[in-house]
Amino acid sequence: MADKKNYYDILGVSKTASQDEIKSAYRKLAKQYHPDFHPGDAAAAEKFKEINEANAVLSDEGKRKQYDYELEHPGMSGGFGGMGGNPFSGFGGGGMGGFEDIISSMFGGGFGGGARQTQQRGADIEQTVRLSFLDAIKGCTREISYFRNEPCKACSGTGAKNGTAYSKCSRCGGSGRVKYQQDTIFGRTIQVGACPDCSGTGKKITEKCPDCKGKGSLRKETRFTINIPAGVDKDSSLRKRGYGQAAPNGGESGDLYVYFRIEPHKLLHREDRDLYVTVPISYKTAVCGGKILVPGIDDTIEYTVPAGTVSGTRFCLRGKGVKTVNGTGNLYATVEIEIPTRLSREQVKKLDEYEETVPLKSCENMQKFANDVSSLYGKKIDKQ
Ligand SMILES: [Zn+2]
Ligand SMILES: [Zn+2]
Repeated sequence: MADKKNYYDILGVSKTASQDEIKSAYRKLAKQYHPDFHPGDAAAAEKFKEINEANAVLSDEGKRKQYDYELEHPGMSGGFGGMGGNPFSGFGGGGMGGFEDIISSMFGGGFGGGARQTQQRGADIEQTVRLSFLDAIKGCTREISYFRNEPCKACSGTGAKNGTAYSKCSRCGGSGRVKYQQDTIFGRTIQVGACPDCSGTGKKITEKCPDCKGKGSLRKETRFTINIPAGVDKDSSLRKRGYGQAAPNGGESGDLYVYFRIEPHKLLHREDRDLYVTVPISYKTAVCGGKILVPGIDDTIEYTVPAGTVSGTRFCLRGKGVKTVNGTGNLYATVEIEIPTRLSREQVKKLDEYEETVPLKSCENMQKFANDVSSLYGKKIDKQ
């Protein structure tokens, strides 16, 4: 077993803290480390898990007493190290199983690995949220609703009336554990595993919960608001622990995974953190240079194109891309010279006059081209 975690230290409260103090410390920390605000951050996710573990125990006077006892008498039992539990139970997400369920879920995964956990976890649920291009970049909140099997509140997911109408499992005598022999590299050992008859709960239901008919879960609409952080992409996902399907026997619920479908933008194109836009400019702006407006996230951005800009030139507007937790991208503007298609006779005449004033030698590329054609093909060309 790993070192016993001190739940009081985790929540930053004293050993004599009141339930109100524990609740307020938990709320504050849970908000701070909520995975919605730290997507992909394993350290924050671990911390969030710890906080919920600590709260699940300290917010329940019975569990807390037991924990206090263990804190003072180390080595008396397996400890709380492997507890799963429902991290959102503090928000009223769905009262999970009682203390014995938590104890039973700790068996398995222990030393030797022989005792596999038999208690089933609920299935995960996937939801796709449609976001506008800008909402994905700026972050937003969305109401999510879907149907799932929620742990039954009347019986705390146990399926037994009031969560109490059960007797001891005869196979394991109510301990939820059975001993069996196993041959390992250390020789023949006695292993302890979850009881197969009662899935480690130690209970046999004597009277079914009338609300859920003994299933331990109810099909219900789950509805809540989700905070979508700025910068999510089509490959991003958010996980909300415990918001998947309820597990049989009051086990740990599955998780909800939220994926995003992001609508395209009329002008901007996104690749990861960078944005791309094509800006048509006039021949005169390309030749003489000048100010252009580049469409950005919140507004247009004024940009000065240098004189002699070739069509297809890409300019980088540094730091004007998408802001994400991993950094901010750039905005790349590609200019394309617009060729007018309908000119009046008067305008064409003016262009002719203008052309005559520009000698071949001031057109660098065309001069080189004419020289190459002359040397390779023996043909003399002028401006064309
Ligand atoms: Zn049993
Ligand atoms: Zn029930």
